[in-house]
Amino acid sequence: MIIQLEQNITASQLEKLREKLQEIQYRSTRVSTQFGDYIIGVGKKEFDIRAIGALPGIRDIHRVSDDYKLVSKKWRVEDTVIELEEGIRIGTGHFALMAGPCSIESEEQVEKTIRHLAANGVRIMRGGVYKPRSSPYSFRGLGIDGLKLWHAKAREAGIRIITEVMMVEQIKPMIPYVDIFQVGARNAQNFNLLDALGEVGKPVLLKRGISGTIDELLQAAEYIFSNGNERIMLCERGIRTFETAYRNTMDINAIAMLKDKTHLPVIADPSHGIGLRRYVDKVALASVMAGADGIIMEVHEQPEKAFSDGQQTLGFSEAERLYRQLRLAFELREGF
Ligand code: PEP
Ligand code: MN
Repeated sequence: MIIQLEQNITASQLEKLREKLQEIQYRSTRVSTQFGDYIIGVGKKEFDIRAIGALPGIRDIHRVSDDYKLVSKKWRVEDTVIELEEGIRIGTGHFALMAGPCSIESEEQVEKTIRHLAANGVRIMRGGVYKPRSSPYSFRGLGIDGLKLWHAKAREAGIRIITEVMMVEQIKPMIPYVDIFQVGARNAQNFNLLDALGEVGKPVLLKRGISGTIDELLQAAEYIFSNGNERIMLCERGIRTFETAYRNTMDINAIAMLKDKTHLPVIADPSHGIGLRRYVDKVALASVMAGADGIIMEVHEQPEKAFSDGQQTLGFSEAERLYRQLRLAFELREGF
């Protein structure tokens, strides 16, 4: 059960509510976010929802039986649209494009990518400065200095930054330079990291775990939300299956289903989703048709020289073509 409180609820009204919840043997947790105050009630007993809803100090009440509640569409029917500065909107009715290299490598690479993005109207740049790599001997990123350099260049061009954070300790030093924090697939159930990102005033893009279910993804988002941050987007980036012909199996089904189950924006990552450059465009377009609110993709001036994930990275001209196709596909879908 989710109970949204009136902003001016009094202590005695709250006490009454607590008593009522105890009566029906519901455990309750208070959640305060940047947008609202809620009580989450968890229990099994049947009860008359009106008996609680009619109490003074309560704005809204809903029965939500899923393990995830605040991110559920059963609770909030209206989709969440995340606003970044300068009129960038992410969520239903808008199409978000995020592109950039897998890893931030050098000043020159950053400059070239920004020029490419700006020329194509792509306003959010992706790139890793802390890289989770399967092998400890692979390139692991330029760290905070790389982020600072990137930030200075991006700001000049009015481009926003999305980048992965891997540890709680990295969050604070990164905050001034990041517009969207990315949680990588390998950290999708790092609950301490999710808790900490709940306390941050920046949006979070949460990737699905490599072997994570849709339910686990939604519960991970619930961690962030219930710690105070409602500005979350979910990202389908492919899952591990028995198929070995490509890097991951892009779960297009999940995009359609997530759009139905949650009010949060859903972003697709076709680059990691299939992991092979020649198919990225098809998978990206299919993701839009399945309902994705945006695409995050890897681009590089010379993909074959990229420090990481070159095999799935598009060159600039391939990417330009795909941006155009994606925008057309989105327009077409919206017109259905
Ligand atoms: C990435 O975005 O480069 C990345 C490491 O993604 P994922 O966490 O989905 O593997
Ligand atoms: Mn990558």
